[in-house]
Amino acid sequence: MGYNVAVDGPAGAGKSTIARLVAKEKGYIYVDTGAMYRALAVHFLKKGIAPEDTQGIIEACGDADVSIRYENGIQQVYLNGENVTGMLRTEEVGNMASRTSAIPGVREKLLELQRMLARENDVIMDGRDIGTNILPEADVKIFLTASVETRAKRRYDELRSKGEDCDLEQIARDIAERDARDMNRETAPLKRAEDAVLIDSSDMTIPEVVSEICSHCK
Ligand code: C5P
Repeated sequence: MGYNVAVDGPAGAGKSTIARLVAKEKGYIYVDTGAMYRALAVHFLKKGIAPEDTQGIIEACGDADVSIRYENGIQQVYLNGENVTGMLRTEEVGNMASRTSAIPGVREKLLELQRMLARENDVIMDGRDIGTNILPEADVKIFLTASVETRAKRRYDELRSKGEDCDLEQIARDIAERDARDMNRETAPLKRAEDAVLIDSSDMTIPEVVSEICSHCK
């Protein structure tokens, strides 16, 4: 069993930025589980299946093979042999992932891949249900959050820096909707594990959050 650090929290809380830095400092592998849900979302979008079509989505899971490789320490996500890493971080894919991740068959599809990575490596894994469901025995659990306004502004800056046209208010609405979906779904909802350390990063710098998390890790 590897040393496992679970980081959960809502969209835009800074989980991936922070987890990547902690991984570097501690020598863990960073596992971005949102990217796996996003890769499946790319598959559903390519096939033109609507997120409400639960049966169609479950069937489409049957011919989706999601795998992870590390190239120069950076996670690359493959969908049926194709590297889709560069396609994952659009709002369209994020919204599709948010909707379809509520379907139990979709979660089932990714559960073993996530557990296997944690068994075989020292990992910091981020997502929504890592501390509660995927790795309930994780050595360290963190629940990282921030206000909706802070998270929307961060997402806005991220998209703008990539040259994408976007609207701050719309992003804030999307984030609030995603939070509601993630927290209220029946299967593996987003919630803080009882033994997770709560960190609200609204008024913290990135190095402060990294250092706080590192202080809990071996
Ligand atoms: O974290 P990220 O925004 O990349 O995740 C995309 C979507 O995948 C989220 O909106 C969430 O609904 C879903 N997700 C999940 N469980 C995880 C990781 C992501 O349900 N462990």
